[in-house]
Amino acid sequence: MLASSAKVFEQTRVSDVRRTGSTVEITTPHGTVRASKVLLATSVYGGEWDITPKNLATPLYVIEIESEPIAPERLAALDWTSRSGIITQHQLMTHYRLTERNTIVCGVRQAQRGQTYPLPDRVPDPRVVRDMGKDLANRFPSLSDVAIERAWGGWIGISPDWLAVAGQVGDNVFYAMACNGHGLCQVPYVTHQLADYIVDGEMSDDLAGIWSDTPKYPASMSLLMQPFVLRAVWGLDRFNDFFNGSRTRARRALRRGRRGGS
Ligand SMILES: Cc1cc2nc3c(=O)[nH]c(=O)nc-3n(C[C@H](O)[C@H](O)[C@H](O)COP(=O)(O)OP(=O)(O)OC[C@H]3O[C@@H](n4cnc5c(N)ncnc54)[C@H](O)[C@@H]3O)c2cc1C
Repeated sequence: MLASSAKVFEQTRVSDVRRTGSTVEITTPHGTVRASKVLLATSVYGGEWDITPKNLATPLYVIEIESEPIAPERLAALDWTSRSGIITQHQLMTHYRLTERNTIVCGVRQAQRGQTYPLPDRVPDPRVVRDMGKDLANRFPSLSDVAIERAWGGWIGISPDWLAVAGQVGDNVFYAMACNGHGLCQVPYVTHQLADYIVDGEMSDDLAGIWSDTPKYPASMSLLMQPFVLRAVWGLDRFNDFFNGSRTRARRALRRGRRGGS
């Protein structure tokens, strides 16, 4: 399935988007499409095209892992009765979700910088997968024997100011990109409003709030998100874990709480 999807994508991959006066030309391996208006919704991809504003999205590769199915009585013992997702307060947050298959999906914790466009196809780094598996075992000690069954990853786009970005190049190319890894809700909302704007010419307040027509964004985020900075952020999170995750400190806090309450 993956191989055939990849083949279809290869066959339809747009290699360039150009404005030629009032027309936009989209180059594919099988020919050129000409349109009067184009909306680019390629997320963090397309950074190699001249039309994509420079530094619009800084690419980071992020990973999710999934455990093997866990026996219902072991899950019940966790008291995770709401089954709602949990996120941590780390700089690079980690999230845990309990699936209908009774597996736990856990994500992010580490991000890896994409350096070149077109973005390469990539698979999860086994070192990162092991680190995430270790975290899952620490977070749920009673499940430390549960195996990690699979891992997958993809590119997310970090915007120059951590907000979603939508905008325009000239009068006929529009884009909605870079949702900082939170696009599942944001993208349908933004693109719906963008479609209304393209058709009716009326811009909603929400769209105006993230709108841009600059041909180039500041390089600050791209310069900041260097591999050594991402590694240092990971180190800072682990340093904080060392203190916040200390059982001694947790017991002391519990004792203090009991004394305060009595
Ligand atoms: C591992 C992972 C976990 C995530 N978890 C969450 C989450 O829990 N919650 C959340 O809100 N967001 C999450 N995200 C981010 C979310 O997936 C994105 O923000 C969202 O998918 C962006 O939507 P989009 O439509 O802009 O882009 P995409 O969904 O990436 O769609 C872009 C499309 O453009 C196509 N494309 C790209 N380049 C070309 C080209 N040259 N020619 C033709 N087609 C092209 C791609 O094939 C793709 O179909 C996660 C991302 C990853 C990688």
